[in-house]
Amino acid sequence: MKKLPAMTLREWGGPLTADLVREPAKFGLGQVPAHLLPDATTKAICGFCSTGCGLKIHLKDGVAVNLTPDPDYPVNLGTACPKGWEALSVLDAPDRARMPLLHGKEVDWDTALRYFCDQMRRILDQHGPEAAAYLSTGQIMFEEMGFLGALAKFGMGMIHGDGNTRQCMATAVAAYKESFGFDAPPFAYSDFEESDVLIFIGANPCIAHPIMWQRVLRNKRQPEIIVVDPRTTETAMAATQHYAIKPKSDLVLLYGLAHLIIRDGGVDTAFVEEHTTGFDEFVLFLTEFHPKRVAEETGISVHRLLHFAQSIIQGTPRVSFWWTMGVNQSHQATRTAQAIINLALMTGNIGKPGTGANSITGQCNAMGSRLFSNTTNLLGGHDFRNPRHREKVAAATGIPVERIPDRPSLAYDQILKAADEGTVKAIWFVATNPSHSWIDQNEINRILDKLDFVVVQDMYCSTETAKRAHLVLPAAGWGEKEGCFINSERRIGYSPKVRRAPGQALADFHIFRLIAHYWGCEDLFRGWSSPEAVFRILQRCTEDQPCDITGISGHEMLQKSGGVQWPLTRAESSKFEVSSWKERRLFEDGKFYTPDKRAKFVFDAPEAAPEQRSDDYPLILITGRGTSAQWHTETRTGKSAVLAKMMPQELMLDLNPQDAGRLSIRDGMKVRVISKRAELTAQARVTNCVSPGEVFLPMHDSRVNQLTHASYDPHSRQPSYKHSAVRVEK
Ligand code: SF4
Repeated sequence: MKKLPAMTLREWGGPLTADLVREPAKFGLGQVPAHLLPDATTKAICGFCSTGCGLKIHLKDGVAVNLTPDPDYPVNLGTACPKGWEALSVLDAPDRARMPLLHGKEVDWDTALRYFCDQMRRILDQHGPEAAAYLSTGQIMFEEMGFLGALAKFGMGMIHGDGNTRQCMATAVAAYKESFGFDAPPFAYSDFEESDVLIFIGANPCIAHPIMWQRVLRNKRQPEIIVVDPRTTETAMAATQHYAIKPKSDLVLLYGLAHLIIRDGGVDTAFVEEHTTGFDEFVLFLTEFHPKRVAEETGISVHRLLHFAQSIIQGTPRVSFWWTMGVNQSHQATRTAQAIINLALMTGNIGKPGTGANSITGQCNAMGSRLFSNTTNLLGGHDFRNPRHREKVAAATGIPVERIPDRPSLAYDQILKAADEGTVKAIWFVATNPSHSWIDQNEINRILDKLDFVVVQDMYCSTETAKRAHLVLPAAGWGEKEGCFINSERRIGYSPKVRRAPGQALADFHIFRLIAHYWGCEDLFRGWSSPEAVFRILQRCTEDQPCDITGISGHEMLQKSGGVQWPLTRAESSKFEVSSWKERRLFEDGKFYTPDKRAKFVFDAPEAAPEQRSDDYPLILITGRGTSAQWHTETRTGKSAVLAKMMPQELMLDLNPQDAGRLSIRDGMKVRVISKRAELTAQARVTNCVSPGEVFLPMHDSRVNQLTHASYDPHSRQPSYKHSAVRVEK
């Protein structure tokens, strides 16, 4: 395998991600105080990203004072990225929400909860069940998420609720459901180590998922590492092949590769015939994607396309395909994800070590949200429209079936549209900050300001969304409450409470219990008395589903076993020892979750992105992660002095030297970045990491989404953050 270059963090001169992981103390991260007894530790799961690293929390007098990565946890094997190391310090920030705030003034919980219930009830009574909605997050525990969805829909009578996972993983969900019959990421992290060819499409794990990248570095098979990304990212620098395609030409590229694999005899015919449907139609569809056309549309030469296709053919049967936001956040995201799935299916690269069409999730509990948020899916991956599913969930939860809505929620953007049109009048935001993160930010803020009632339940009272709220409910954060996350490889891990929340902040779980009480529906939730009790209720909802976890005996088993990947049925758990559950992948028997047990080839003609370059806006803006020290809207990571040293102090605009020369812009100069919607000021970083005609801004600055153009994938309704037209001026 090619060695990592000396620097893998961005060009502003920050330290290496890999070095940070190997020698954290050098950067002032996480030294364990000498006075701690060696046995004064407990184990937790990191609450930032979907990698789901195990952390050892060091306690003094029963209070968490520091942490170190858990060497025994099968995910991270004793490593952590900067965010994980700083997970405790961000809990001490001065802007933590400590008391409920009503119109900006501190009130007690009784006043806040009465007000919440009065306002929500008035709106629902006057305008019907579609008039109030909740928008939650992949950041809270899944027991909390399940409780929120059940409370809002079954208890309070709402129809609509979605989460910030719509911005992140909705595409993977839609793609897997249609292709495999269930939302089922098939892989285990050991596939990073067991692959001969790893193909990263729209993914930059060096900084976005640094511990997954560490797993790649442990691969001893001398793998080919191929990156498809318009930018020369840190991962592209470390790759053996990089294809810097034109922005949003990924779908054409993937179809072009499929065409060449068929032409050059790379199809696993036996697998296709036995385990898939729709291949003949796919072959017919692909005839138009000849190399010359694909080269023109992607900017990749015919010679390099052939080399790419040959790398897949020769790497088979151990080729793994990995994707994340570069694919998920686009106008044809679902079809692009399915084009990746198609490549894995046609070459038989699935269900075996080192293979798979593998979507890397974003948030620590995005996978939990996919199963238990009760938004577009009924609890446990069920369908609101199916009467048998409603009966089953009613029996599992003890909720009368007539209280379960018979239709799924509108998607996030549709809820906002309904709010703009006046049908939705109240939104309850839980642990999310869309005033910063939603696409075309000025639009969402205009809509929020029209609402009759905005509630924000969050750890910090200073978020852009909290500042617009009529009511802020102060919530405990990671480490201040207990529950489970599900990571990218479907691993369910338990995280305990190791600190007290500040002031009167409460665990989201307890806030939901209080709301049930004040609403007068606590009888419905009498059994939902603790996170573990809710865990058992949600477990029952998964029975006989692909995600069946009825074989997990409880939180204690999760803590002792190093987490458990779903599924684990009751029957399986009686057959196996805990030690044999460490790594499991799906589809080893070639059977998928569709009615005929076959995976489907799904495809559509590529279309141009909705906003194209013009004379006034000649550059394409791509947004994405800045550094491994930053997390989304920086609500937490922005509070760490240590992390602050690892990120640029200014908003940096990456600009190619050709464009910089044409515009007479020098490196370090202040520039204006202007789209049809807004403008901002940034510092130019002149770099070949972006191609001519393209610029890049990290998403963490609160102004960046003022520029982005709102368009959505029609199947997943995920926003397309990666293709907006801008111009740059001195
Ligand atoms: S990689 Fe993700 S889960 Fe692991 S320490 Fe970093 S933020 Fe936490």
